[in-house]
Amino acid sequence: MSAHAFDTQGMDHCPFMPVFGAPQVMFVRGSGTELWDSQGKRYLDFLCGLAVTSLGHANPAVARAISEQAATLLHVSNLFANPVATEAAVMVNELLQRATGQAGQTFFCNSGAEANECALKLARKFGGRGRHVVVSAFGSFHGRTLAALAATGQPAKHEPFQPMPDGFRHVAWGDLAALEAAIDPSVSAVIIEPVQGEGGVNIAPNGYLEGIRRLCDDRGLLMIIDEVQTGFSRTGRWFGFEHSGVVPDVVTIAKGMGNGFPVGACWARKDVAAVFQPGDHGSTYSGTAIATAAVRAVISEMQRIDAPGLAERQGARLRAGLQAMPKVKQVRGLGLLLAAEFGEGADAKAVYSALLARGVVTNAVTATALRLAPPLTVSDAEIDEMLAILGEVLA
Ligand SMILES: *Cc1c(COP(=O)(O)O)cnc(C)c1O
Repeated sequence: MSAHAFDTQGMDHCPFMPVFGAPQVMFVRGSGTELWDSQGKRYLDFLCGLAVTSLGHANPAVARAISEQAATLLHVSNLFANPVATEAAVMVNELLQRATGQAGQTFFCNSGAEANECALKLARKFGGRGRHVVVSAFGSFHGRTLAALAATGQPAKHEPFQPMPDGFRHVAWGDLAALEAAIDPSVSAVIIEPVQGEGGVNIAPNGYLEGIRRLCDDRGLLMIIDEVQTGFSRTGRWFGFEHSGVVPDVVTIAKGMGNGFPVGACWARKDVAAVFQPGDHGSTYSGTAIATAAVRAVISEMQRIDAPGLAERQGARLRAGLQAMPKVKQVRGLGLLLAAEFGEGADAKAVYSALLARGVVTNAVTATALRLAPPLTVSDAEIDEMLAILGEVLA
């Protein structure tokens, strides 16, 4: 079935639950930054499935790792060990120990929302009875499961599902005084993104993360950093929090860590992880061999090519090109997680549609801003080609 069938026959003929709207394009194949649709048309992918395929489509190292693992051992459950998950956990711990100076432990799961569920349960266990509230920022996004949605600071997304689970509080993004005022003895943790991705690619204001760290230290709270979108080299560092120098207690990761294979993780400093006991948390697929084979390959490949360095260098080229465009009022973001802001009255959706028609995949992250998150392996020529097409669309 082609994507066009949905358009002509309507959503009644769509086999999916109607939560995403009618898709406009059906992609059948990808390679690096390029995608091809069911009509054979070529696209440049400057979105990466929402900052997921950071090493490009059909990355040979990741494809080989997944297919070799599929032919060796997919899954054995957590009643037994498998060498792949063990190695992947050691590698994740090494990355986060280097970034934080603290030894930690990892729980593997299947998505960003699940990584945050683990962190939120860890915060409740850490706080103990009566100290279970988690504070987050308005404009944040932490996932779609009920607890992750409750942590998400977007009241419109809560509305259809009221009442939300208890124990979540939201404060203005960037406002340390508001955060301080929200902390009482019922609070156990703060969860924060270093750059709000879904909220519009908003970088944490100068000193904000440092101020949260100080408040958490003063009040004995966990600082949970949601790196689901910013982690794994996207911002020009392995983790977005490294731009600030703060040391989180708990870090959640997903999107880029499997390059499209569904996998996530919650990492915590060892003494924090130690509040969990056998039976407190779990998942059938936690540390399944096939997913952790993808993680192992992604980390090795990102280290081999210096993915953070690529994100920084190619991000600077893309940013400079965007900033040179008269219709672009501001460029926000870090590394290769950028938003081009067109300003009041602009129609980012129309720009998105015009780009898609010309073979460039992006995302209207707000009504007036376009989000750009190409593979970290994007070439100079691909950036220049995209900028030329965007220039035509805006002219
Ligand atoms: C995408 C995202 C999530 C949710 O991840 P899923 O894999 O969709 O569950 C959580 N936090 C942030 C910051 C995200 O960008």
